[in-house]
Amino acid sequence: MTRLLVIGPPGAGKGTQAVRLAEAFGVPAISTGDIFRFNVKNETELGVQVKAFIEAGKYVPDSLTNEIVADRLKEPDALQGFLLDGYPRTTDQVLELDRLLDAEGTSLDAVVQIVADTDEVVARLLKRAAEQGRADDTADVIRHRLEVYEEQTAPLIDLYDKRGVVVTIDGLGAVDQVTDRIVAALAERGLHAVGPTDAVAASA
Ligand code: AMP
Repeated sequence: MTRLLVIGPPGAGKGTQAVRLAEAFGVPAISTGDIFRFNVKNETELGVQVKAFIEAGKYVPDSLTNEIVADRLKEPDALQGFLLDGYPRTTDQVLELDRLLDAEGTSLDAVVQIVADTDEVVARLLKRAAEQGRADDTADVIRHRLEVYEEQTAPLIDLYDKRGVVVTIDGLGAVDQVTDRIVAALAERGLHAVGPTDAVAASA
C-alpha cells in the first residue's frame, strides 16, 4: 500500500529507478510520458490530441493530463498503491492529485527527489544524444532543459517539502547503488519494499 512519486531531472536515471522501485514495492509504475507516447504511436484519440504538444517539447494541457491520471488511478491495480513518474509537473496537477487522493481517503507516502550534479547529467545526456544520433541535443540545449526543469520543479518540491514527504537521493553512481539508496531511505521512513530489487536479487 505504498504511494510514491519520483521526481528528477532528465539524465538522472529517474525512469530506470521508477521501474525498479515499483517492482520492489509491488505497485504499478505509472508514467504519463509513457502513456502519451503509447497513445501517439497507436494513433488513438488521445494520441492525436497530444501529439503536437509532445513533439514541440511542450507540456500537455493540465485538463487532459489530469484526466488520464484520474482514469489510470481508478484501475484495480493502482488501488493498492502506485508509483507516479513524470506527474505531477505543475502546481495545478499537484492540487488535482491531492483531490483524487483525498477522495479515496489516502495521501502520498513519499516523494523521491533524485538529484544529480549538472555537469555529470549534461555529460550523460550528450552521450545519449550521440548514441541516438540526436545532433540537435547540444550541451547548451541540454543545460537549458535542465534550467527549465529546475524552474518548473522547484515550486512542486517546495510544496511537498512543507508536508515533510520529500526524500532527496543522490542519483550519481551505479544503477543498483542508487536503487539501494532509495530503498534504504524509504525504509527509514517505515516504507518497506515487499520484493527484491534487481540489486538484491543479483547478490542473493
Ligand atoms: P516524459 O517522458 O516524462 O519526459 O514525457 C514526455 C512528454 O510527455 C513531455 O515532454 C510532455 O510533453 C508530456 N508529458 C508527460 N508528463 C506530463 C505531465 N505531467 N504534464 C504535461 N505534459 C506531460
